[in-house]
Amino acid sequence: MAVEMEKLVSLCKRRGFLFQSSEIYGGLNGFWDYGPLGVELKRNVKEAWWRDMVTTHDDLSVLPGAPSAYEMTGLDSTIIMHPQVWKCSGHYDLFHDFMVDCRQTRKRYRYDQVRGRWVKLGERRIFVTTVAEASDEQAEVERKALKFFKLRPKQADELVWESDFIALPEVDDLSQVLAPDATELGTLTEPREFNLMFKTYVGALSGEEGAAFLRPETAQGIFVNFKNVLDSTRVKIPFGIAQIGKSFRNEITPRYFTFRSREFEQMEIEFFCHPSTSSDWYRYWRDRRMQWYQQLGLAGERLRLREHAPDELSHYSRGTADIEYAFPFLPAGEFGELEGIAHRGDFDLRSHMEGKLDEKSNPLVVQLDEHGKPKYRGSGKDLTYRDEATGERFIPHVIEPSAGADRATLAFLCEAYREDTAPDDKGVMQTRTVLSLHPRLAPIKAAVFPLVKKDGMPEVAKDIYRALKKRYNVFYDEKGAVGRRYRRQDEAGTPYCITVDGQTLIDNTVTIRDRDSLEQVRVKVDDVVEEVVQRIEQ
Ligand code: ATP
Repeated sequence: MAVEMEKLVSLCKRRGFLFQSSEIYGGLNGFWDYGPLGVELKRNVKEAWWRDMVTTHDDLSVLPGAPSAYEMTGLDSTIIMHPQVWKCSGHYDLFHDFMVDCRQTRKRYRYDQVRGRWVKLGERRIFVTTVAEASDEQAEVERKALKFFKLRPKQADELVWESDFIALPEVDDLSQVLAPDATELGTLTEPREFNLMFKTYVGALSGEEGAAFLRPETAQGIFVNFKNVLDSTRVKIPFGIAQIGKSFRNEITPRYFTFRSREFEQMEIEFFCHPSTSSDWYRYWRDRRMQWYQQLGLAGERLRLREHAPDELSHYSRGTADIEYAFPFLPAGEFGELEGIAHRGDFDLRSHMEGKLDEKSNPLVVQLDEHGKPKYRGSGKDLTYRDEATGERFIPHVIEPSAGADRATLAFLCEAYREDTAPDDKGVMQTRTVLSLHPRLAPIKAAVFPLVKKDGMPEVAKDIYRALKKRYNVFYDEKGAVGRRYRRQDEAGTPYCITVDGQTLIDNTVTIRDRDSLEQVRVKVDDVVEEVVQRIEQ
Protein backbone atom coordinates (compact mmCIF):
# COMPACT_ATOMS: atom_id res chain seq x y z
CA MET A 1 0.00 0.00 0.00
CA ALA A 2 1.32 3.38 -0.94
CA VAL A 3 1.70 5.86 1.86
CA GLU A 4 -0.61 8.85 1.69
CA MET A 5 1.70 11.69 0.87
CA GLU A 6 0.05 14.23 3.19
CA LYS A 7 0.69 11.93 6.14
CA LEU A 8 4.35 11.56 5.28
CA VAL A 9 4.80 15.29 4.68
CA SER A 10 3.19 16.03 8.01
CA LEU A 11 5.37 13.48 9.83
CA CYS A 12 8.47 14.97 8.16
CA LYS A 13 7.62 18.38 9.48
CA ARG A 14 6.36 17.30 12.91
CA ARG A 15 9.36 15.12 13.69
CA GLY A 16 11.99 17.30 12.07
CA PHE A 17 12.95 15.47 8.90
CA LEU A 18 12.23 18.27 6.42
CA PHE A 19 11.31 21.93 6.59
CA GLN A 20 10.56 24.39 3.87
CA SER A 21 13.58 26.64 3.38
CA SER A 22 13.25 30.13 4.92
CA GLU A 23 9.84 29.14 6.24
CA ILE A 24 9.51 32.11 8.60
CA TYR A 25 9.64 34.39 5.55
CA GLY A 26 7.05 32.39 3.69
CA GLY A 27 9.41 29.83 2.19
CA LEU A 28 11.29 29.74 -1.08
CA ASN A 29 9.89 27.48 -3.75
CA GLY A 30 12.15 24.56 -4.65
CA PHE A 31 14.41 24.73 -1.59
CA TRP A 32 14.25 22.44 1.43
CA ASP A 33 16.05 22.17 4.76
CA TYR A 34 16.73 18.91 6.56
CA GLY A 35 15.86 19.02 10.25
CA PRO A 36 17.59 17.16 13.10
CA LEU A 37 16.29 13.72 12.07
CA GLY A 38 16.41 14.45 8.34
CA VAL A 39 20.05 15.45 8.36
CA GLU A 40 20.99 12.16 10.03
CA LEU A 41 18.93 10.17 7.56
CA LYS A 42 20.39 11.90 4.51
CA ARG A 43 23.93 11.64 5.88
CA ASN A 44 23.37 7.93 6.39
CA VAL A 45 22.18 7.56 2.79
CA LYS A 46 25.28 9.35 1.53
CA GLU A 47 27.53 7.49 3.95
CA ALA A 48 26.09 4.12 2.90
CA TRP A 49 26.71 5.04 -0.74
CA TRP A 50 30.26 6.23 -0.11
CA ARG A 51 31.18 3.24 2.02
CA ASP A 52 29.62 0.68 -0.31
CA MET A 53 30.94 2.25 -3.51
CA VAL A 54 34.30 3.62 -2.36
CA THR A 55 35.81 2.91 1.07
CA THR A 56 34.83 -0.73 1.55
CA HIS A 57 35.09 -1.59 -2.14
CA ASP A 58 37.36 -4.62 -2.53
CA ASP A 59 39.65 -3.81 -5.43
CA LEU A 60 41.49 -7.11 -5.26
CA SER A 61 38.55 -9.36 -6.07
CA VAL A 62 36.39 -9.75 -9.13
CA LEU A 63 32.91 -8.94 -7.87
CA PRO A 64 29.92 -10.93 -9.16
CA GLY A 65 28.94 -9.68 -12.61
CA ALA A 66 32.06 -7.52 -13.06
CA PRO A 67 34.33 -8.11 -16.06
CA SER A 68 37.42 -7.75 -13.83
CA ALA A 69 38.64 -6.27 -10.55
CA TYR A 70 38.57 -2.46 -10.40
CA GLU A 71 39.61 0.42 -8.20
CA MET A 72 37.51 3.21 -6.72
CA THR A 73 38.60 6.58 -5.48
CA GLY A 74 36.90 9.81 -4.38
CA LEU A 75 36.95 13.52 -5.14
CA ASP A 76 35.45 16.75 -3.86
CA SER A 77 35.47 19.47 -6.51
CA THR A 78 34.09 23.00 -6.40
CA ILE A 79 30.56 24.12 -7.19
CA ILE A 80 31.74 27.04 -9.29
CA MET A 81 34.15 26.10 -12.06
CA HIS A 82 35.70 27.74 -15.07
CA PRO A 83 32.82 28.79 -17.39
CA GLN A 84 34.48 26.96 -20.26
CA VAL A 85 33.67 23.67 -18.50
CA TRP A 86 29.98 24.23 -19.20
CA LYS A 87 30.58 25.30 -22.78
CA CYS A 88 32.51 22.15 -23.58
CA SER A 89 30.15 19.89 -21.65
CA GLY A 90 27.22 21.17 -23.70
CA HIS A 91 25.32 22.64 -20.73
CA TYR A 92 25.79 26.23 -21.82
CA ASP A 93 23.96 25.67 -25.09
CA LEU A 94 21.82 22.68 -24.40
CA PHE A 95 20.83 22.46 -20.76
CA HIS A 96 17.44 24.03 -21.01
CA ASP A 97 13.78 23.36 -20.70
CA PHE A 98 11.01 25.06 -22.62
CA MET A 99 8.57 27.18 -20.73
CA VAL A 100 5.30 28.89 -21.52
CA ASP A 101 3.79 31.83 -19.70
CA CYS A 102 0.12 32.50 -19.17
CA ARG A 103 -0.69 36.11 -20.03
CA GLN A 104 -3.87 36.03 -17.98
CA THR A 105 -2.66 34.49 -14.70
CA ARG A 106 1.05 35.36 -15.08
CA LYS A 107 1.87 31.78 -14.15
CA ARG A 108 4.77 29.94 -15.77
CA TYR A 109 4.76 26.28 -16.75
CA ARG A 110 7.20 23.81 -18.15
CA TYR A 111 6.00 23.28 -21.71
CA ASP A 112 6.08 19.48 -21.53
CA GLN A 113 4.36 19.36 -18.16
CA VAL A 114 1.12 20.90 -19.35
CA ARG A 115 -1.21 18.15 -20.48
CA GLY A 116 -4.76 18.10 -21.65
CA ARG A 117 -7.54 16.79 -23.89
CA TRP A 118 -9.44 18.14 -26.85
CA VAL A 119 -13.10 18.56 -26.03
CA LYS A 120 -16.05 19.67 -28.16
CA LEU A 121 -19.37 21.26 -27.30
CA GLY A 122 -21.49 21.78 -30.41
CA GLU A 123 -19.19 23.46 -32.91
CA ARG A 124 -16.63 24.72 -30.39
CA ARG A 125 -13.52 22.66 -29.91
CA ILE A 126 -10.97 23.57 -27.25
CA PHE A 127 -7.93 21.99 -25.61
CA VAL A 128 -8.40 21.92 -21.82
CA THR A 129 -5.24 21.53 -19.80
CA THR A 130 -3.93 20.75 -16.37
CA VAL A 131 -0.41 20.45 -15.00
CA ALA A 132 0.84 16.88 -14.96
CA GLU A 133 0.88 16.71 -11.17
CA ALA A 134 -2.91 16.65 -10.84
CA SER A 135 -3.72 13.29 -9.28
CA ASP A 136 -7.07 12.99 -11.05
CA GLU A 137 -6.44 14.64 -14.39
CA GLN A 138 -9.78 13.74 -15.91
CA ALA A 139 -11.79 15.20 -13.03
CA GLU A 140 -9.69 18.32 -13.29
CA VAL A 141 -10.15 18.91 -17.03
CA GLU A 142 -13.83 18.05 -16.83
CA ARG A 143 -14.35 20.62 -14.09
CA LYS A 144 -12.54 23.24 -16.19
CA ALA A 145 -14.41 22.39 -19.38
CA LEU A 146 -17.77 22.62 -17.60
CA LYS A 147 -16.84 25.98 -16.16
CA PHE A 148 -15.62 27.29 -19.50
CA PHE A 149 -18.78 26.24 -21.34
CA LYS A 150 -20.93 27.36 -18.38
CA LEU A 151 -22.45 23.93 -17.88
CA ARG A 152 -23.58 22.25 -14.69
CA PRO A 153 -21.95 18.99 -13.50
CA LYS A 154 -25.01 16.99 -14.52
CA GLN A 155 -24.55 18.21 -18.11
CA ALA A 156 -21.09 16.62 -18.29
CA ASP A 157 -22.23 14.09 -20.88
CA GLU A 158 -22.82 16.89 -23.38
CA LEU A 159 -19.06 17.26 -23.64
CA VAL A 160 -17.46 15.21 -26.40
CA TRP A 161 -13.87 14.24 -25.54
CA GLU A 162 -11.94 14.02 -28.74
CA SER A 163 -8.50 12.87 -27.69
CA ASP A 164 -6.67 11.06 -24.95
CA PHE A 165 -4.44 13.09 -22.68
CA ILE A 166 -1.60 14.56 -24.71
CA ALA A 167 1.20 16.93 -23.77
CA LEU A 168 1.07 20.54 -24.89
CA PRO A 169 4.04 20.21 -27.33
CA GLU A 170 1.76 17.99 -29.43
CA VAL A 171 -0.71 20.85 -29.93
CA ASP A 172 0.07 23.14 -32.89
CA ASP A 173 -2.46 25.89 -32.34
CA LEU A 174 -2.14 27.58 -28.95
CA SER A 175 -5.09 29.89 -29.65
CA GLN A 176 -7.60 27.18 -28.70
CA VAL A 177 -5.79 26.15 -25.53
CA LEU A 178 -7.30 26.83 -22.11
CA ALA A 179 -4.26 27.23 -19.85
CA PRO A 180 -4.28 25.31 -16.53
CA ASP A 181 -5.47 28.21 -14.38
CA ALA A 182 -6.99 30.49 -17.02
CA THR A 183 -10.60 31.24 -17.85
CA GLU A 184 -9.96 32.54 -21.39
CA LEU A 185 -8.56 30.74 -24.43
CA GLY A 186 -5.18 31.37 -26.02
CA THR A 187 -3.41 33.00 -23.10
CA LEU A 188 -0.25 30.89 -23.33
CA THR A 189 2.83 32.37 -24.98
CA GLU A 190 4.84 30.47 -27.56
CA PRO A 191 7.39 28.18 -25.81
CA ARG A 192 10.70 29.78 -24.95
CA GLU A 193 14.03 28.25 -24.01
CA PHE A 194 15.14 28.63 -20.44
CA ASN A 195 18.64 27.63 -19.34
CA LEU A 196 18.52 25.79 -16.04
CA MET A 197 21.94 26.89 -14.81
CA PHE A 198 22.07 29.53 -12.08
CA LYS A 199 24.32 32.37 -13.10
CA THR A 200 26.54 34.32 -10.75
CA TYR A 201 29.49 36.70 -10.92
CA VAL A 202 32.95 35.97 -9.59
CA GLY A 203 35.11 38.72 -8.15
CA ALA A 204 34.70 42.45 -8.10
CA LEU A 205 34.14 42.65 -11.83
CA SER A 206 30.43 42.47 -12.27
CA GLY A 207 30.59 42.38 -16.06
CA GLU A 208 30.24 39.33 -18.27
CA GLU A 209 33.98 38.55 -17.87
CA GLY A 210 33.20 37.53 -14.29
CA ALA A 211 30.11 35.48 -15.18
CA ALA A 212 30.08 31.92 -13.89
CA PHE A 213 27.57 29.19 -13.13
CA LEU A 214 26.60 27.05 -10.16
CA ARG A 215 27.17 23.48 -11.29
CA PRO A 216 24.04 21.67 -12.48
CA GLU A 217 25.76 18.29 -11.93
CA THR A 218 28.84 17.10 -10.05
CA ALA A 219 30.08 14.97 -12.95
CA GLN A 220 32.06 17.67 -14.77
CA GLY A 221 34.27 18.23 -11.72
CA ILE A 222 35.35 14.61 -12.10
CA PHE A 223 36.09 14.82 -15.82
CA VAL A 224 38.21 17.93 -15.50
CA ASN A 225 40.22 16.25 -12.71
CA PHE A 226 40.68 12.98 -14.57
CA LYS A 227 44.33 13.69 -15.31
CA ASN A 228 45.05 14.97 -11.80
CA VAL A 229 43.71 11.78 -10.28
CA LEU A 230 45.72 9.64 -12.69
CA ASP A 231 48.92 11.59 -12.03
CA SER A 232 48.57 11.73 -8.26
CA THR A 233 47.55 8.14 -7.56
CA ARG A 234 48.51 4.82 -9.01
CA VAL A 235 45.03 3.98 -10.26
CA LYS A 236 44.85 2.03 -13.47
CA ILE A 237 41.95 1.57 -15.80
CA PRO A 238 39.35 0.28 -15.06
CA PHE A 239 38.66 2.58 -12.14
CA GLY A 240 35.99 4.90 -10.86
CA ILE A 241 35.98 8.35 -9.28
CA ALA A 242 33.10 9.10 -6.93
CA GLN A 243 31.81 12.41 -5.73
CA ILE A 244 28.97 13.61 -3.52
CA GLY A 245 27.95 17.23 -3.59
CA LYS A 246 25.42 19.95 -4.16
CA SER A 247 24.06 20.71 -7.61
CA PHE A 248 21.77 23.51 -8.66
CA ARG A 249 19.13 23.69 -11.36
CA ASN A 250 16.75 26.56 -11.80
CA GLU A 251 13.84 24.20 -12.39
CA ILE A 252 10.84 25.95 -13.92
CA THR A 253 8.36 24.04 -11.83
CA PRO A 254 9.94 22.56 -8.71
CA ARG A 255 7.47 20.19 -7.09
CA TYR A 256 6.66 16.94 -5.40
CA PHE A 257 8.33 17.78 -2.10
CA THR A 258 12.11 17.35 -2.50
CA PHE A 259 11.78 15.30 -5.69
CA ARG A 260 12.37 18.25 -7.97
CA SER A 261 14.27 20.92 -6.05
CA ARG A 262 16.43 23.78 -7.22
CA GLU A 263 19.27 22.90 -4.85
CA PHE A 264 19.95 19.23 -4.31
CA GLU A 265 22.71 16.73 -3.75
CA GLN A 266 24.05 14.20 -6.19
CA MET A 267 26.09 11.05 -5.70
CA GLU A 268 27.92 10.40 -8.93
CA ILE A 269 30.50 7.94 -10.20
CA GLU A 270 32.45 8.30 -13.41
CA PHE A 271 33.85 4.91 -14.22
CA PHE A 272 36.67 4.87 -16.76
CA CYS A 273 37.32 1.76 -18.82
CA HIS A 274 38.69 0.47 -22.10
CA PRO A 275 36.23 0.91 -25.00
CA SER A 276 36.23 -2.83 -25.70
CA THR A 277 34.79 -3.67 -22.27
CA SER A 278 32.56 -0.66 -21.76
CA SER A 279 29.30 -2.43 -22.60
CA ASP A 280 30.04 -5.11 -20.01
CA TRP A 281 30.83 -2.45 -17.43
CA TYR A 282 27.63 -0.65 -18.27
CA ARG A 283 25.62 -3.79 -17.48
CA TYR A 284 27.63 -4.38 -14.32
CA TRP A 285 26.98 -0.90 -12.96
CA ARG A 286 23.31 -0.92 -13.88
CA ASP A 287 22.77 -4.13 -11.92
CA ARG A 288 25.11 -3.20 -9.07
CA ARG A 289 23.29 0.08 -8.46
CA MET A 290 19.87 -1.58 -8.58
CA GLN A 291 21.03 -4.07 -5.95
CA TRP A 292 22.21 -1.26 -3.70
CA TYR A 293 18.71 0.20 -3.36
CA GLN A 294 17.26 -3.25 -2.84
CA GLN A 295 19.75 -4.08 -0.10
CA LEU A 296 18.78 -0.90 1.73
CA GLY A 297 15.10 -1.66 1.72
CA LEU A 298 13.55 -0.62 -1.60
CA ALA A 299 12.90 -4.24 -2.28
CA GLY A 300 9.33 -4.25 -3.49
CA GLU A 301 7.68 -3.73 -6.83
CA ARG A 302 7.68 0.03 -6.45
CA LEU A 303 11.33 -0.07 -7.56
CA ARG A 304 12.18 -0.88 -11.14
CA LEU A 305 15.05 -0.75 -13.58
CA ARG A 306 14.06 0.69 -16.94
CA GLU A 307 16.33 0.43 -19.93
CA HIS A 308 15.88 3.38 -22.32
CA ALA A 309 14.58 2.66 -25.80
CA PRO A 310 17.09 3.56 -28.56
CA ASP A 311 15.11 6.69 -29.51
CA GLU A 312 15.26 7.95 -25.90
CA LEU A 313 19.06 7.82 -25.73
CA SER A 314 21.20 10.96 -25.72
CA HIS A 315 23.13 11.45 -28.93
CA TYR A 316 26.36 10.15 -27.38
CA SER A 317 24.95 7.33 -25.28
CA ARG A 318 25.20 3.68 -26.15
CA GLY A 319 22.91 2.64 -23.34
CA THR A 320 21.09 4.27 -20.47
CA ALA A 321 18.98 2.77 -17.74
CA ASP A 322 17.01 4.52 -15.05
CA ILE A 323 16.37 3.18 -11.59
CA GLU A 324 12.88 4.39 -10.84
CA TYR A 325 10.55 4.41 -7.88
CA ALA A 326 6.76 4.63 -7.91
CA PHE A 327 6.60 7.67 -5.62
CA PRO A 328 3.14 7.93 -4.03
CA PHE A 329 2.65 11.51 -5.25
CA LEU A 330 2.88 10.47 -8.90
CA PRO A 331 -0.22 9.47 -10.85
CA ALA A 332 -0.98 5.74 -10.45
CA GLY A 333 1.34 3.59 -12.55
CA GLU A 334 3.97 6.31 -13.01
CA PHE A 335 7.55 6.07 -11.81
CA GLY A 336 10.09 8.80 -11.00
CA GLU A 337 13.83 8.63 -11.63
CA LEU A 338 16.12 7.94 -8.67
CA GLU A 339 19.27 7.37 -10.65
CA GLY A 340 20.41 7.19 -14.24
CA ILE A 341 23.18 4.86 -15.37
CA ALA A 342 24.58 5.97 -18.71
CA HIS A 343 27.17 4.63 -21.09
CA ARG A 344 28.69 7.92 -22.23
CA GLY A 345 31.38 6.61 -24.56
CA ASP A 346 34.32 9.03 -24.76
CA PHE A 347 32.06 12.08 -25.15
CA ASP A 348 33.07 13.95 -22.00
CA LEU A 349 36.83 13.48 -21.97
CA ARG A 350 36.99 14.19 -25.68
CA SER A 351 34.95 17.38 -25.30
CA HIS A 352 37.22 18.68 -22.54
CA MET A 353 40.26 17.81 -24.59
CA GLU A 354 39.27 19.04 -28.02
CA GLY A 355 36.07 21.00 -27.63
CA LYS A 356 34.85 18.79 -30.41
CA LEU A 357 36.34 16.36 -32.82
CA ASP A 358 34.00 15.37 -35.55
CA GLU A 359 30.30 15.64 -35.94
CA LYS A 360 29.79 11.95 -35.54
CA SER A 361 31.36 11.50 -32.14
CA ASN A 362 30.25 14.82 -30.76
CA PRO A 363 27.63 16.44 -32.93
CA LEU A 364 25.87 18.72 -30.51
CA VAL A 365 28.94 20.40 -29.09
CA VAL A 366 29.97 21.38 -32.58
CA GLN A 367 29.21 25.07 -32.55
CA LEU A 368 30.93 26.73 -35.43
CA ASP A 369 31.49 30.46 -35.43
CA GLU A 370 31.07 32.65 -38.52
CA HIS A 371 34.51 31.61 -39.78
CA GLY A 372 33.68 27.91 -39.60
CA LYS A 373 35.94 27.41 -36.56
CA PRO A 374 34.78 25.59 -33.41
CA LYS A 375 32.97 28.04 -31.16
CA TYR A 376 34.19 26.45 -27.96
CA ARG A 377 37.74 25.21 -27.71
CA GLY A 378 38.53 22.37 -25.33
CA SER A 379 41.29 22.61 -22.74
CA GLY A 380 43.83 21.36 -25.26
CA LYS A 381 45.18 19.09 -22.50
CA ASP A 382 45.93 15.48 -23.22
CA LEU A 383 43.18 13.47 -21.52
CA THR A 384 44.11 10.16 -23.09
CA TYR A 385 45.23 7.14 -21.11
CA ARG A 386 48.24 4.98 -21.83
CA ASP A 387 48.06 1.33 -20.91
CA GLU A 388 51.50 0.54 -19.51
CA ALA A 389 51.26 -3.16 -20.23
CA THR A 390 50.29 -2.92 -23.89
CA GLY A 391 51.53 0.58 -24.71
CA GLU A 392 48.08 1.37 -26.17
CA ARG A 393 46.91 4.96 -25.90
CA PHE A 394 43.17 5.69 -25.94
CA ILE A 395 40.43 7.92 -24.62
CA PRO A 396 38.66 5.88 -21.96
CA HIS A 397 34.97 5.18 -22.16
CA VAL A 398 32.84 6.29 -19.27
CA ILE A 399 29.98 4.64 -17.42
CA GLU A 400 28.14 7.11 -15.24
CA PRO A 401 25.85 6.02 -12.39
CA SER A 402 24.32 9.33 -11.33
CA ALA A 403 22.07 9.32 -8.27
CA GLY A 404 20.22 11.97 -6.30
CA ALA A 405 20.74 11.88 -2.53
CA ASP A 406 17.48 13.74 -1.90
CA ARG A 407 15.39 11.55 -4.16
CA ALA A 408 16.90 8.41 -2.62
CA THR A 409 16.19 9.77 0.87
CA LEU A 410 12.61 10.55 -0.12
CA ALA A 411 12.12 7.09 -1.63
CA PHE A 412 13.47 5.41 1.52
CA LEU A 413 11.05 7.51 3.59
CA CYS A 414 8.06 6.68 1.36
CA GLU A 415 8.88 2.98 1.42
CA ALA A 416 9.45 2.95 5.18
CA TYR A 417 6.25 4.70 6.23
CA ARG A 418 3.47 2.49 7.50
CA GLU A 419 0.74 2.35 10.05
CA ASP A 420 -0.08 -0.76 12.02
CA THR A 421 -1.36 -1.72 15.42
CA ALA A 422 0.61 -2.51 18.53
CA PRO A 423 -0.37 -3.02 22.16
CA ASP A 424 0.03 -0.01 24.46
CA ASP A 425 1.17 -0.13 28.11
CA LYS A 426 -2.10 -1.73 29.15
CA GLY A 427 -2.08 -4.26 26.34
CA VAL A 428 -4.77 -2.39 24.36
CA MET A 429 -4.17 -2.40 20.61
CA GLN A 430 -3.42 1.08 19.27
CA THR A 431 -2.57 2.37 15.82
CA ARG A 432 1.06 3.33 15.51
CA THR A 433 3.06 5.04 12.81
CA VAL A 434 6.32 3.33 11.96
CA LEU A 435 9.23 4.22 9.74
CA SER A 436 10.70 0.83 8.92
CA LEU A 437 14.00 2.24 7.75
CA HIS A 438 16.96 -0.06 7.24
CA PRO A 439 19.06 0.07 10.45
CA ARG A 440 21.99 1.53 8.48
CA LEU A 441 19.81 4.44 7.40
CA ALA A 442 17.89 5.03 10.62
CA PRO A 443 18.68 8.50 12.06
CA ILE A 444 18.73 7.14 15.61
CA LYS A 445 20.08 3.62 15.95
CA ALA A 446 18.81 2.87 19.44
CA ALA A 447 16.92 4.52 22.27
CA VAL A 448 17.62 3.72 25.91
CA PHE A 449 14.90 4.01 28.53
CA PRO A 450 14.74 3.42 32.25
CA LEU A 451 11.25 2.00 32.86
CA VAL A 452 10.83 4.39 35.77
CA LYS A 453 12.89 7.30 37.02
CA LYS A 454 13.97 5.61 40.28
CA ASP A 455 15.54 2.54 41.89
CA GLY A 456 18.84 3.13 40.12
CA MET A 457 17.32 2.43 36.70
CA PRO A 458 18.35 5.78 35.15
CA GLU A 459 21.98 5.16 36.20
CA VAL A 460 22.14 1.77 34.43
CA ALA A 461 20.35 3.21 31.38
CA LYS A 462 22.72 6.18 31.19
CA ASP A 463 25.74 3.86 31.26
CA ILE A 464 24.33 1.87 28.35
CA TYR A 465 23.53 5.10 26.52
CA ARG A 466 27.10 6.37 26.95
CA ALA A 467 28.61 3.10 25.80
CA LEU A 468 26.47 3.07 22.64
CA LYS A 469 26.92 6.77 22.00
CA LYS A 470 30.61 6.19 21.29
CA ARG A 471 29.61 4.48 18.06
CA TYR A 472 26.15 5.64 17.10
CA ASN A 473 23.57 8.36 17.31
CA VAL A 474 21.49 7.03 20.23
CA PHE A 475 18.79 8.65 22.31
CA TYR A 476 18.06 8.66 26.02
CA ASP A 477 14.52 9.23 27.27
CA GLU A 478 13.09 8.88 30.74
CA LYS A 479 9.95 10.97 30.39
CA GLY A 480 6.38 9.65 30.25
CA ALA A 481 4.82 6.23 29.78
CA VAL A 482 7.14 3.74 28.19
CA GLY A 483 4.52 2.86 25.53
CA ARG A 484 4.50 6.46 24.37
CA ARG A 485 8.30 6.53 24.33
CA TYR A 486 8.32 3.44 22.11
CA ARG A 487 5.84 5.00 19.73
CA ARG A 488 7.87 8.18 19.38
CA GLN A 489 10.87 6.10 18.40
CA ASP A 490 8.82 3.99 15.97
CA GLU A 491 7.84 7.19 14.21
CA ALA A 492 11.46 8.33 14.03
CA GLY A 493 12.49 4.97 12.56
CA THR A 494 14.64 3.89 15.53
CA PRO A 495 15.14 0.16 15.06
CA TYR A 496 15.91 -0.79 18.69
CA CYS A 497 14.71 0.33 22.10
CA ILE A 498 16.58 -0.83 25.15
CA THR A 499 14.68 -0.76 28.43
CA VAL A 500 16.08 -1.03 31.93
CA ASP A 501 13.40 -2.45 34.24
CA GLY A 502 12.89 -4.13 37.60
CA GLN A 503 14.41 -7.34 36.33
CA THR A 504 17.63 -5.53 35.46
CA LEU A 505 18.23 -4.84 39.10
CA ILE A 506 17.92 -8.57 39.85
CA ASP A 507 19.82 -10.25 37.01
CA ASN A 508 21.57 -7.44 35.16
CA THR A 509 19.63 -7.95 31.91
CA VAL A 510 17.67 -5.47 29.80
CA THR A 511 15.10 -5.83 27.04
CA ILE A 512 15.84 -5.02 23.43
CA ARG A 513 12.67 -4.30 21.50
CA ASP A 514 12.63 -4.65 17.74
CA ARG A 515 10.71 -1.84 15.98
CA ASP A 516 9.29 -4.02 13.22
CA SER A 517 8.53 -7.38 14.84
CA LEU A 518 7.86 -5.84 18.29
CA GLU A 519 9.76 -8.80 19.69
CA GLN A 520 11.53 -8.21 22.99
CA VAL A 521 14.52 -10.25 24.03
CA ARG A 522 16.49 -10.06 27.26
CA VAL A 523 20.19 -9.46 26.95
CA LYS A 524 22.90 -9.07 29.57
CA VAL A 525 23.84 -5.43 30.16
CA ASP A 526 27.44 -6.24 29.26
CA ASP A 527 26.37 -7.68 25.89
CA VAL A 528 24.08 -4.83 24.81
CA VAL A 529 26.62 -2.92 22.73
CA GLU A 530 27.75 -6.00 20.88
CA GLU A 531 24.16 -7.12 20.26
CA VAL A 532 23.17 -3.73 18.84
CA VAL A 533 26.30 -3.53 16.65
CA GLN A 534 25.61 -6.97 15.31
CA ARG A 535 22.02 -6.15 14.46
CA ILE A 536 22.85 -2.86 12.77
CA GLU A 537 25.75 -4.13 10.78
CA GLN A 538 24.22 -7.47 9.83
P1 ATP B 1 14.68 14.58 -14.34
O1 ATP B 1 14.42 14.02 -15.69
O2 ATP B 1 13.81 14.01 -13.26
O3 ATP B 1 14.76 16.08 -14.31
P2 ATP B 1 17.40 14.19 -14.96
O4 ATP B 1 17.33 13.04 -15.90
O5 ATP B 1 17.55 15.56 -15.48
O6 ATP B 1 16.14 14.12 -13.96
P3 ATP B 1 20.07 13.70 -14.20
O7 ATP B 1 20.59 14.88 -14.92
O8 ATP B 1 20.29 12.34 -14.79
O9 ATP B 1 18.51 13.91 -13.91
O10 ATP B 1 20.59 13.76 -12.69
C1 ATP B 1 20.93 12.61 -11.96
C2 ATP B 1 20.11 12.48 -10.70
O11 ATP B 1 20.12 13.70 -9.97
C3 ATP B 1 18.64 12.19 -10.93
O12 ATP B 1 18.42 10.81 -11.13
C4 ATP B 1 18.02 12.67 -9.65
O13 ATP B 1 18.11 11.68 -8.63
C5 ATP B 1 18.90 13.84 -9.27
N1 ATP B 1 18.22 15.09 -9.66
C6 ATP B 1 18.25 15.69 -10.87
N2 ATP B 1 17.52 16.84 -10.86
C7 ATP B 1 17.03 16.96 -9.60
C8 ATP B 1 16.22 17.93 -8.95
N3 ATP B 1 15.78 19.00 -9.57
N4 ATP B 1 15.91 17.74 -7.64
C9 ATP B 1 16.36 16.65 -6.97
N5 ATP B 1 17.13 15.71 -7.54
C10 ATP B 1 17.47 15.84 -8.83
